[in-house]
Amino acid sequence: MSKITVIGSFVVDMVAKMKRFPQAGETILGESVNYFLGGKGINQCVSVARLGGDAEMIGMLGDDENGKKFRKLMDENGIKSESVFSCEYPTAVAQVQIDGNGQNRICVIPSANYMFELSDVDKIDDKLKTTEIVLLQLELKKEVVEEIIRRAHKYGKTVILNPAPAQKLSDEILSMIDYITPNETELAIISGEKTDSRAEIEKALDRLLDKGVKAVVATLGKDGAVIARKDKKTYGSSYKVNAVDTVAAGDSFNGALAVAISEGKSDEEILRFANAMGALTVSKNGAIPSIHTRKEVEEFLLTRKQTT
Ligand code: ADP
Repeated sequence: MSKITVIGSFVVDMVAKMKRFPQAGETILGESVNYFLGGKGINQCVSVARLGGDAEMIGMLGDDENGKKFRKLMDENGIKSESVFSCEYPTAVAQVQIDGNGQNRICVIPSANYMFELSDVDKIDDKLKTTEIVLLQLELKKEVVEEIIRRAHKYGKTVILNPAPAQKLSDEILSMIDYITPNETELAIISGEKTDSRAEIEKALDRLLDKGVKAVVATLGKDGAVIARKDKKTYGSSYKVNAVDTVAAGDSFNGALAVAISEGKSDEEILRFANAMGALTVSKNGAIPSIHTRKEVEEFLLTRKQTT
């Protein structure tokens, strides 16, 4: 089994529910508050581990209670964590406000995630040399992610970038990426094309392929996903489920993609597997609790058909 190294973020979501949002300068009473472990990096790493991948996480935590919770989560999921460092800044927190209409307002405070500096990349150089697949997102500092991509590419590793939250990427970086995995909104931002119709999406995919990305894996929500390569585009439809919460759908999909690639699956098989993982995630509330296991995905695939 190939080694999959996820390098990315840890974020505790502090979710406060209220009838309406406060105005500037106003104090209101809310209804409830809950804390959830998340962050794209650790969500994707948990997805890899629960699907049976050989998972290692690299990132930065605070030396605090939230940091301890994440270390326990990694232990419980069999994730290697010797290069998850600690710093004197707090573990990252997202303040999420949800009003009575389900609208949200989110403020992410990156703290420890942004304490992973360029100088820390030297400390993980051996890890980059000894892994097979490197899975990254854009919740660490962009220059850190770019340097890791350069080195992983130089060492001949398979580089998967989930470009979220979306930021423009240079042609130099795009040309070193084996798989880039935007959703439709992110695809529009990084390609500079609209993505409102199938024709526009295909143009956006071609734009990225022209820049040297080996494959673009665009997730299309309830429409499934597509793997675009220079010579072929493979579409995989989604599975019909009762969608209750789309949080972490993209994250669980990315973990499944990495595992499927490590197992040498064909593009059709990759899409079947990752779309099943995504569908199961949207059928359950929360981030980490909605990330299913290999056994659950395989049982689901035995009983379900993809939508056409
Ligand atoms: P993100 O969560 O990053 O915005 P998407 O919304 O594209 O990404 O969802 C990621 C994947 O999750 C999709 O490619 C699909 O496999 C699955 N998915 C998302 N929404 C649904 C849905 N309503 N029904 C079934 N599967 C879904």
